[in-house]
Amino acid sequence: MNDLQATPQKALVTAGASGIGRVIALALSDAGFEVHVCDVDPGALDRIGSEAPGLHAHPGDVSDANDVERVFAAVDAYPGAFYLLVNNAGVAGPTAPVQDIEPDDWRATLRVNLDGAFLCARAAAPRLLEGGGGVILNIASNAALFGFPNRLPYTVSKWGLIGFTKTLAMELGPRGIRVNALCPGSVSGPRIDGVIERDAAERGLSPDAVRREYARQSSLRCFVDAEDVASMAVFLASPAGARISGQAIAIDGHTEGLFQFDKEDFS
Ligand code: NAD
Repeated sequence: MNDLQATPQKALVTAGASGIGRVIALALSDAGFEVHVCDVDPGALDRIGSEAPGLHAHPGDVSDANDVERVFAAVDAYPGAFYLLVNNAGVAGPTAPVQDIEPDDWRATLRVNLDGAFLCARAAAPRLLEGGGGVILNIASNAALFGFPNRLPYTVSKWGLIGFTKTLAMELGPRGIRVNALCPGSVSGPRIDGVIERDAAERGLSPDAVRREYARQSSLRCFVDAEDVASMAVFLASPAGARISGQAIAIDGHTEGLFQFDKEDFS
């Protein structure tokens, strides 16, 4: 059960075996939710299963409708009402200008980032309605708030999640279901390290220069920690967030724009 609720409530965090999803899952577990995660990485699922014995780990690819049905059926087998879906699964997609993006890479990005969120929300909605209310959190990005050169499929998918959030909030709000999007800035960790490496290679800059550039895009001159995102997720899932729905909430130290400097700026 969460801090202010009397009965156990089930939460599902997609791609919850590592990265930001793992930190969100552990924070929700600490807050008293009965937490389930799904992920495509069996090794990471094993690791989180032993790291947090109360947490339930299920294999499943969010972009595969059969997998999603299987994961929700597995969650159904546990007692308690289904209360919270965290649509966290998302891939970075290619880093390239539009003319160099392969259609297959475009589709693969949207398949995980948008189809995945849709398939999970579609499965979650009847369960949330049956329980009399609940919460859907969509992990978007601050790329959903600005243009982001050389990251077209990712940016489009994350802007799509904002429309998805606002529309679902309107469809489900009258039945007591709140839907919000969280928009993190660059989160410290291996994924952003990979993004920086690829961006640097694409633009002929050093990784350190690109890292400084990313940090300089926020008023607080910072990267974000996964814990910052998890705190917001716990807040929004709790009764403290009871009047917040349909919002795209930036957790990014106030980004002024995802602009890029030219190579000359660093020479
Ligand atoms: P990550 O790349 O570290 O991956 C986390 C997990 O996702 C892995 O365990 C992986 O196995 C799993 N996964 C990948 N594809 C999956 C699929 N189809 N189905 C189920 N699981 C899958 O990701 P992250 O950096 O923790 O990002 C999590 C979310 O936060 C994503 O939606 C991402 O776009 C968003 N985000 C990340 C950052 C960042 O800087 N890392 C910034 C803003 C937003």
